[in-house]
Amino acid sequence: MFEKVLIANRGEIALRIHRACKEMGIKTVAVHSTADADAMHVRLADEAVCIGPAPARDSYLNKAAIISAAMITGADAIHPGYGFLSENADFAEMVEAHGITWIGPSPKMIRMMGDKVQAKAAAIKSGLPVVPGSDGDVRTVDAAKIVAQKIGYPVIIKAAAGGGGKGMKVAHNESELVEAYNTAKLEAKTSFGNDMVYMEKYLQTPRHIEIQVLADNYGNVVCLGERDCSLQRKHQKVLEESPSPALNKTQREKIMEIVRTAMTKIGYSNLGTIEFLYENGEFYFLEMNTRLQVEHPITEMVTGIDVVREQIRVASGAPLGYSQKDIRFDGYAIECRINAENPETFIPSPGKIGCWHVPGGLWVRVDSAMYSGYKVPPHYDSMVAKLIVFGRSRNGCLMRLKRALDEFVIEGVETTIPLHQRIIANSDFIDGQYNIHWLENFLEKK
Ligand code: ADP
Repeated sequence: MFEKVLIANRGEIALRIHRACKEMGIKTVAVHSTADADAMHVRLADEAVCIGPAPARDSYLNKAAIISAAMITGADAIHPGYGFLSENADFAEMVEAHGITWIGPSPKMIRMMGDKVQAKAAAIKSGLPVVPGSDGDVRTVDAAKIVAQKIGYPVIIKAAAGGGGKGMKVAHNESELVEAYNTAKLEAKTSFGNDMVYMEKYLQTPRHIEIQVLADNYGNVVCLGERDCSLQRKHQKVLEESPSPALNKTQREKIMEIVRTAMTKIGYSNLGTIEFLYENGEFYFLEMNTRLQVEHPITEMVTGIDVVREQIRVASGAPLGYSQKDIRFDGYAIECRINAENPETFIPSPGKIGCWHVPGGLWVRVDSAMYSGYKVPPHYDSMVAKLIVFGRSRNGCLMRLKRALDEFVIEGVETTIPLHQRIIANSDFIDGQYNIHWLENFLEKK
């Protein structure tokens, strides 16, 4: 096992990883920008190294500075968390070239899954169901027209190098297609420096359902159930739940088996998530995230498995030591992402936290790096806490969530707590009747 792990991240996820390390008897090294000198992850770590000024490109994205920090402190592994360099294959390669273990899948796997055209081809080859679409990239408007005729309108044009919902355009007919194609290509070029685009049938009312995968270096793969992340605003997840209200046991077991077989074929190792769109009982592969995800705690709540601990264990070369039949699913879990934003306009609200009182009690978990008197810096994303609640029944989980949201006190900055209170009081949400467009429609209605 590792003796010292460097955590190349900040905020709640840096703290989450620190906690897993401490419980495993591993020392931690925090890295931080000058804006984060007072951050909780820096205070708690065994050692801390300042890696640059506030802008992320000069600090949390500064590969050389992070590797130097690992060398100076003698860390034997780097955990990248999510965001920042977590899906940067070049960085993972640099880490390994310096004799440091990368806590994640191989650089080759990260690179393949990071290119959407390649990822989709790999998905098809390994037996994952995909959205009908073009065979790889689409190089001309005329080629796009032919694909659209074949799969039928509406269609969506997507950047091969895409991410964060950028470079995607929908066309409902041939006259819209020309403009959609050209705009998507231009956006892809400006946002990602790569104008390669591909096409898919546009699904109109899908849910976003993802499967958590955990694999060791010896070909053992388990699936830790699904998360329903359909509640999104501008392609950003707002609230997630597990299990999905849309799936029954048979459907869940079937998709987990398909994913497990595919991951074994691909030779995947470490932690990963396969994202699907789900409509009319069918799953369609969207993409694979080759890292730990923000919403991992709901999976931990329903499986009782500490996924960060497992991720560190398998990266150190330990075998999983259990198989799919040993995984037990129990109860319901919901996570609310609480952002320092105005709950109606979503304008970020950085500033100094006054009173900070978190809810407690049975089956209530708060993952956050905030404290009273802390100044939320304006340089990074605005999430200040994740509230995760478990219940034996979905209704029990909802009642507990309502109680916990009502108890949460955050003063000094505006937060999205009122938005979550409104969502969970809505009858569609209570009935589990929602798709990826539900939240934006709900927000427009007000
Ligand atoms: P990104 O990596 O930019 O987030 P994804 O491929 O994961 O791109 O897609 C992001 C979102 O775009 C999905 O969650 C979904 O809301 C929408 N989307 C993508 N492909 C389709 C499709 N074929 N039909 C309908 N919606 C889609």
